[in-house]
Amino acid sequence: MDDAFVIVGASLAGAKAAEALRAEGHAGPVVLIGEEGERPYERPPLSKDYLLGRAGREKIFVHPADWYREHDVDLRLSTTVTAVDPAARTVALAGGERLGFARLLLATGSSPRRIPVPGGDAEHVLYLRRVEDSDRLRAAFRPGARVVIVGAGWIGLEAAAAARAADCEVTVLEAAELPLLRVLGREVAQVFADLHRAHGVDLRFGVQVAEIRPDAVLLGDGTAVPADAVVVGVGISPDTGLAEAAGLAVDNGVRTDEHLRTSHPDVFAAGDVANAFHPLYGRPIRVEHWANALNQPAVAARSMLGLDAVYDRVPYFFTDQYDLGMEYTGYAEPGGYDRVVFRGDVAGREFIAFWLAADGRVLAGMNVNVWDVVDPIRALCRSGRPVDAGRLADPAVPLTDLADGVS
Ligand SMILES: Cc1cc2nc3c(=O)[nH]c(=O)nc-3n(C[C@H](O)[C@H](O)[C@H](O)COP(=O)(O)OP(=O)(O)OC[C@H]3O[C@@H](n4cnc5c(N)ncnc54)[C@H](O)[C@@H]3O)c2cc1C
Repeated sequence: MDDAFVIVGASLAGAKAAEALRAEGHAGPVVLIGEEGERPYERPPLSKDYLLGRAGREKIFVHPADWYREHDVDLRLSTTVTAVDPAARTVALAGGERLGFARLLLATGSSPRRIPVPGGDAEHVLYLRRVEDSDRLRAAFRPGARVVIVGAGWIGLEAAAAARAADCEVTVLEAAELPLLRVLGREVAQVFADLHRAHGVDLRFGVQVAEIRPDAVLLGDGTAVPADAVVVGVGISPDTGLAEAAGLAVDNGVRTDEHLRTSHPDVFAAGDVANAFHPLYGRPIRVEHWANALNQPAVAARSMLGLDAVYDRVPYFFTDQYDLGMEYTGYAEPGGYDRVVFRGDVAGREFIAFWLAADGRVLAGMNVNVWDVVDPIRALCRSGRPVDAGRLADPAVPLTDLADGVS
């Protein structure tokens, strides 16, 4: 099967790539290989509705079970790719089988970082990436259980909200001074701190975890925080092992150009694992979010087929915690913006925050419990033109007017 299009990683990016190849009319063999036992599913519900018990397992899948057979996609689950040989155009599977490929897509995603302290890898320490992890959290979130969450990033905070919904006593431990400080900056990070405190979470900032014991988390200052369950959410690392061993360019993910082609012409990458050159920003960026894994594969598939395609979407992600829903559009790096401008009611958690560059360009916007504004925010981010901060802050000025003015 040397004419096969092989996709390594059967999650959102891999499944969407298979879909896009067929949608583009590709008639040759498509092989989708994943080490998990479930067919491709989406991860956002694992820390939200699925974890909360509001959505069943049938809601999480990317495609119905029959879809793969109906579209002649050779889906190989519980199968690990152990090596890629770009020169020979083969992949090796655990068990010894080798598959030839004409084009290869790496959609291997990422894995939770382990916490490097004694007990960090113990059986009772919970990490959240796969559906079975979510099942374990749900079982541990019993009313009255003392749940300690290490890390106040998106996963940690969403897990905290789910644990509070299950009537657990929740403590969040974070080394920084605020949750999400690196991602959002001080002004907006405070909103999330206030939100969780208002819902009864014991937030402890500036603390170091020294050890995880079966019944407590030990802090650097000797304090023991009693725990019936410990959830660790301290970030993720892209799964670049195959690419590195294959000699592909790897730097904070698998490096690709704007067509999602790696340093080898027959090998492509998409989703969490890809550090792709972004024409809008003039450099590679790696995005660890759902919308990226949803949309990059269409571009990767076209590129694999030799068609022209460039990935230049403005990054986007979302979260839901308690009664707060938010969408973030754009890209503002830690320390890479000048100021934050708010429009709306911050204390009432119904507002839009804009991150501005020193020259007044909008780098990113985040709408909190305000809806149907992503299009104008995206237009503002894409335009690269300065916007008057006073008008941006004024809810009487329609965002579409501002976006029309700049786009
Ligand atoms: C709990 C949770 C909640 C999230 N919530 C949000 C959210 O609210 N908003 C948002 O924007 N994003 C969210 N995300 C992020 C989003 O889910 C990811 O960006 C997305 O899953 C990335 O998809 P992917 O296909 O690139 O990689 P992954 O989903 O990581 O999938 C990669 C797949 O490749 C497989 N694989 C890896 N190596 C091999 C190999 N050698 N052989 C075979 N298979 C292999 C893995 O087993 C895995 O199944 C969340 C993530 C998690 C875990």
